[in-house]
Amino acid sequence: MSSCAKLLTLAAALSAATLSAAQTKASHPEADAQALDIARKSISLRSVAGAGNQTPQVAELYKRALVEGGFAAQNISITPVDDTAYLIARWPGSDASLKPLVLSGHMDVVEAKRADWQRDPFTAVVEQGYLYGRGASDMKLDGAVAIASLIELKRQHYTPRRSIIIEFSGDEETSMKTSAIIAGTLSGADLVLNIDGGGGALDERTGAPLYFTWQGAEKTYADFELAVTNPGGHSSQPKKDNAITQLAAALVHIGNYQFKPELNELTRAYFEAAAKYEEPGLAAAMRAFAANPADRTAIATLSAKPDQVGKIGTTCVVTMITGGHAVNALPQRASANVNCRIFPGHPPAAIMAELQRAAATPGVVFKDVTEGTVPTEASPMRKDFVAAVTEAMAVAYPGVPVFPSMSSGASDSMWFRSKQVPSYGASPTFMKPSDDFSHGLNERVPVANIAPGISYYLLLLRALSK
Ligand SMILES: [Zn+2]
Repeated sequence: MSSCAKLLTLAAALSAATLSAAQTKASHPEADAQALDIARKSISLRSVAGAGNQTPQVAELYKRALVEGGFAAQNISITPVDDTAYLIARWPGSDASLKPLVLSGHMDVVEAKRADWQRDPFTAVVEQGYLYGRGASDMKLDGAVAIASLIELKRQHYTPRRSIIIEFSGDEETSMKTSAIIAGTLSGADLVLNIDGGGGALDERTGAPLYFTWQGAEKTYADFELAVTNPGGHSSQPKKDNAITQLAAALVHIGNYQFKPELNELTRAYFEAAAKYEEPGLAAAMRAFAANPADRTAIATLSAKPDQVGKIGTTCVVTMITGGHAVNALPQRASANVNCRIFPGHPPAAIMAELQRAAATPGVVFKDVTEGTVPTEASPMRKDFVAAVTEAMAVAYPGVPVFPSMSSGASDSMWFRSKQVPSYGASPTFMKPSDDFSHGLNERVPVANIAPGISYYLLLLRALSK
């Protein structure tokens, strides 16, 4: 696998070098300026769920830019849903028999309070190379770069053979209702590029690009309720069975339980490539685990790291507990929530059954109470996508390694993957780990991402739509 991937990378780099001279090394100042302009304007729109949600205005801003850039107005729809809206813009290809290429993003952002921030979160500011504002990194610059790239392709008089569709959901950060609707509408897509996933890492000290990962899988989110009920009674007359102690026993067993560590082709490739950037002990464990997922020493090292344990298998943790109704009464009910991040390939029901066996406590009733999510499988390592993303990166960031990753959080990709549409997180945004303030305070993103990001999209979109 690894030598194969290396050959592929080399071949891709060579063919990209030829391509780049012809069409993509050229600068695109109009697109660069437009991306920053759209990003700034969209940050100033407070697209937060609830009263005063300006997500529909972000959709209007995007639509205006696309129409001025050459998209036919009748090919762009903005559909209101509750307090938000979603946008779907189509660029018809010359061969209507081909399934479309979809770019997927979102327009909404997480709430931000002025009092907590150094600057107004809804006024875009560029300072010392960073664009600041709520949504700067998640994902208003990404959205703007993708839109400016499509418009640049129009400017270059490009005609795709395969239709290109760009869509933005309006509630990715909350209910994902529009995300589910969009995936239903576009379930006939050939492939989805999620412009809100994947991305590159910058060296913490020098700021130089280190590596780029595309995201081909994410873990399935699940919540299970565990409940014990009991007729209860007066606390002066205790009985052997007690709802709280029974539940506690079950939770202790679950806390001690470890799901069988496992690998898939994505995580194997990830561990092999990412080991290079870790300290020697962790790097050795990553390589050993990639070679043998039953390696006990490697499992012990990786399991002890909160940022690694999720990559080697399913994890479940108790997140909430409640029980009893009076200080002087035997509890009639005790319940807890167990939150699981399921390794791709396992149905939630199977994980719940496994937890039930691990709990090994009679009288505990398990119930799947998961909301707003669907189980997803890993997307295959499709050769055309891997080659295209590797070639595009080789031009935008020459010499920077490209490899796959699996994320522990959920994104809009799950709605497509649950419909068997391959979906890949492929954002060209590079960040230092210490710069990642998405969802947090003083969110920011380096503006130096814009020009190479556009070069990348120009190549990637051409390659996947030709
Ligand atoms: Zn996001």
